[in-house]
Amino acid sequence: MTKTGKKNDCPCGSGQVFDRCCNRFLSGQEAPRTPLELMCSRYTAYTRQDSRYLRHTWYPNAMPEGALAADPSIKWIRLHIIRHEEEGDDGLVEFIAHYKVNGRARKLHETSRFLREGGKWYYLDGTFNE
Ligand SMILES: [Zn+2]
Repeated sequence: MTKTGKKNDCPCGSGQVFDRCCNRFLSGQEAPRTPLELMCSRYTAYTRQDSRYLRHTWYPNAMPEGALAADPSIKWIRLHIIRHEEEGDDGLVEFIAHYKVNGRARKLHETSRFLREGGKWYYLDGTFNE
């Protein structure tokens, strides 16, 4: 474990260190207060193959079968947020996630929907933009 350099930066690309950013949520110390925080922390969970957190933040019964199957050939590179909206208990985040499969650059352009229930934000589902 190193305390210096980029290794300490949060994978979500916020520019903050992991412990002060998404790890607050992945560790369970805090709950995301906005759809954007949840989105970023779920991206970070994907980069770390933290399926426990992904399951925990998926809206109950909305998780597709096999959704969390870890694919070791995928390497998540960067998250780019395009827009995020919040209205009452509904949230929306449009993003592009850059990743590599077997060394080839790909991107995922998705608009995700979020729901707040019992004071907690959940990921509901997403639609692909291309
Ligand atoms: Zn983060």
